[in-house]
Amino acid sequence: MNEKKLRFNSKAIHGGQHPDKAYGAVMPPIYQTSTYAQTSPGEHKGYEYSRSGNPTRTALENAVASIENGTYGMAFASGLAAIDALLKLLEPGDEVISTGDLYGGSYRLFKKMYEKYGIVFRFVDMGNVENIAEVINGKTKMIWVETPTNPMMNIIDIEAVARISKKHHVLLAVDNTFATPYLQQPLELGADIVMHSATKYLGGHSDVVVGALVVNDKDLADQLYFIQKASGAICGPMDAFLTLRGIKTLHVRMQRHCENGAAIAEYLAKHPKVEKVYWPGFESHPNHEVAKKQMSGFGGMISFVPKGGSYKNAVKIVEQLKIFTLAESLGGVESLAGHPASMSHAGIPKEEREKSGIVDALIRLSVGIEDAEDLIADLEQALN
Ligand SMILES: *Cc1c(COP(=O)(O)O)cnc(C)c1O
Repeated sequence: MNEKKLRFNSKAIHGGQHPDKAYGAVMPPIYQTSTYAQTSPGEHKGYEYSRSGNPTRTALENAVASIENGTYGMAFASGLAAIDALLKLLEPGDEVISTGDLYGGSYRLFKKMYEKYGIVFRFVDMGNVENIAEVINGKTKMIWVETPTNPMMNIIDIEAVARISKKHHVLLAVDNTFATPYLQQPLELGADIVMHSATKYLGGHSDVVVGALVVNDKDLADQLYFIQKASGAICGPMDAFLTLRGIKTLHVRMQRHCENGAAIAEYLAKHPKVEKVYWPGFESHPNHEVAKKQMSGFGGMISFVPKGGSYKNAVKIVEQLKIFTLAESLGGVESLAGHPASMSHAGIPKEEREKSGIVDALIRLSVGIEDAEDLIADLEQALN
């Protein structure tokens, strides 16, 4: 079977998977072991210690690489552990250009952890890629893109950024957590690295915290494998198994997330008590054309601002929701609602937050795969 030739749905189920050699188990067994017997010092069956490698983790790493159309995958203890490993490629004095509107935890890792080791982060609005050219310089080593952005659903043109990164010989890393490879494949668009919080859509069932990186370049993969083993923030075998199980239904879940997302975005846009809805599927979205070009659907992440909304008003609405659970995170089968100003983005100073449009009244929805009618009825009662 030439796996690279398989279509997406087949890859989601078979990518990097082989029946277990010992008993033919169809599902990769959970190799809950720290170490492996050797017949003679250094003679083993490919695994010697589970920080450097574990067969269940390998299965997940191969599966994620397969669905991203990449060659090398690495699985970590969390999405942030994956980003942390990536930043360890850098040295003091190196610069990173990042989108201004990004996941709060990534911002915190950049500013509160890596700045003190001498890495410089420059935040720009990448809605217009010209802004990158303005700050790029000889010290720039990496461009960090998140698209759609969290929580403003801005879209960044990955191909356009890749042209800049290639011209300047800078690594381009894309956080593909929101779109998933079902909707968008950054390596195909010219990125060097894809990062995932597999905690979200890849796992899909809100039962694990896992991160992943995928690359095509062998040298880059070797460096990252070294960091993974040397720093040790690996994904455990049980979490690898659960994430693999999630990936097998990624395509069917994403279809429903997209359908429900569209229904709810349209419902909210027509609602008299809603001021503004952020969703890349609207023709009025500033980068709708780019979204249409690089994504095969618009996903189930939506943010909105209630009319005349205040902090208190937004809190009241999210408290009223019954089917949408008020919780951090996203991408699970169940619908979640969040209030970025007090939850996911509370760590970003208010002025910084508001520059990106994250006003106090903003509400973020992760639309799940329940019946859209029930979700709409829930929003209706909460808005009223
Ligand atoms: C959740 C998330 C992360 C961080 O991942 P964890 O698994 O929580 O460490 C990074 N980027 C985005 C876009 C996320 O949503």
